[in-house]
Amino acid sequence: MIADIGGYTEYMQFHRTLLGHAEAATTRLLEKVVDAARDFDLIEIEGDAAFLSREADTLDGDARLAAITEAAVAMHRAFHVERRLVELNLCPCDSCAQTSDLKLKFVAHVGEVAIQKIKRRRKLIGMDVIFVHRLLKNPVQVPEYVLLSEDLYRSGGTAPPDHLVHEISQDLEGIGPVRTYFVEVEDLAGPLAPVPDPSGLRRVGETVGILGRGLRCQLRLRRPRRTAPAD
Ligand SMILES: [Zn+2]
Repeated sequence: MIADIGGYTEYMQFHRTLLGHAEAATTRLLEKVVDAARDFDLIEIEGDAAFLSREADTLDGDARLAAITEAAVAMHRAFHVERRLVELNLCPCDSCAQTSDLKLKFVAHVGEVAIQKIKRRRKLIGMDVIFVHRLLKNPVQVPEYVLLSEDLYRSGGTAPPDHLVHEISQDLEGIGPVRTYFVEVEDLAGPLAPVPDPSGLRRVGETVGILGRGLRCQLRLRRPRRTAPAD
């Protein structure tokens, strides 16, 4: 499963006023997204996206689809709660004040992978890993959706109700035409309950948090490189 922040490129391009703030915000958002996908392992952060996986062998078809839709709903909720907190923090810079265009979308697939361990990092490799990544390039027009591969969609009984599922065909680069199915996140989750406005105190905390991160970012960039380790 890949959770991908939409609108991120524009966000990064337009908000360069305070170096580090857009990055700090997206880091925070991705952290919350990953935390919310409790039964999934984080394989890799890929720019504006998180690549997650879980074992499917132990789940029957019904449970596979449910695992995906439940995780998507939880990640989506966590994303927007955190996004709202970034927006409400007291830093007036554009990247902190204008996060409302950021969206979260998902693609998911079930297939066979090999696990490659390099040092302490675990990588997934194989055609199906490429497949799920290719799904990101799709013609879906709605901003927030869960797009399922046919293998995943067909793997079990209770998919989301038929009237919510939209079938599309995609031509995947190097793979060819495939059928995929998407559901709008809102149709799965219902409209987002309004995020309670944090208290003034919390807002100050949030601001300090994000300013701190932005600042650290700048310091790191500005610190001259040493040619030899200190002491
Ligand atoms: Zn800011």
